[in-house]
Amino acid sequence: MKQFYVIATPIGNLEDITLRAIRILKEVDLVLCEDTRVTKKLLDKYEIKTPTMSYHSQSKLAKIDKILDLIDEGKILALVSDAGTPCISDPGSLLVSKIKEKFLEDIQIIPIPGPSAVISALSGAGVPASDFLFLGFLPHKKGRETLFKEISESKRTVAFYESPHRILKTLESLKQHLGNERKIILARELTKIYEQIISGTGEELLKYFEQNLDKIKGEFVVIVPEK
Ligand code: SAM
Repeated sequence: MKQFYVIATPIGNLEDITLRAIRILKEVDLVLCEDTRVTKKLLDKYEIKTPTMSYHSQSKLAKIDKILDLIDEGKILALVSDAGTPCISDPGSLLVSKIKEKFLEDIQIIPIPGPSAVISALSGAGVPASDFLFLGFLPHKKGRETLFKEISESKRTVAFYESPHRILKTLESLKQHLGNERKIILARELTKIYEQIISGTGEELLKYFEQNLDKIKGEFVVIVPEK
């Protein structure tokens, strides 16, 4: 039976990797990386000498064909992204679907669980998270306002990813839709030196960032608790 691994890797702190992930990264024939330079730092830390090849969101179908050929030849491959769990707002889903389509029952796709920013953020947010709605990255234009309306009306906690470039704009929109009472939680730079989980109304958070411009940096998970 052929095997293909999908391996979660750290979202900042390189110690956040499972023993199983390290073992498999050592054992496979090739590691497919979103950015080989980023993954190299992780591989070097754990003295993993496995060869790497890039596979990212811009990879062409020819690259997928090449990967399928390697699997056909009996090679065991692993897919990682720059941070966290592949396929979760990261490349990988198309590749996994093509692998399943080609090899059907002859291949086992084996996910190796580990960090994901949305799960880490929810676990530290102190909000109802038995069930939640994850929106990945919000669209920049079309449908954005409608989504904010849906977020504000959601009976489930909503979580999404945001970049430092858009966080103030997003807080402005949340402020408009959530009003002056409801809290928002921001999880920033999780597992890293300047890790921070802060909460406040849209207005409070905007004021906080106005006074702390150096904190509009890094990577954010935005959480809006259920209505
Ligand atoms: N696949 C990843 C996962 O499982 O979390 C997500 C990759 S997505 C391209 C990157 C986004 O995840 C960032 O823009 C940010 O919103 C969030 N993220 C990643 N690392 C983070 C961290 N250390 N702290 C907070 N958010 C993070």
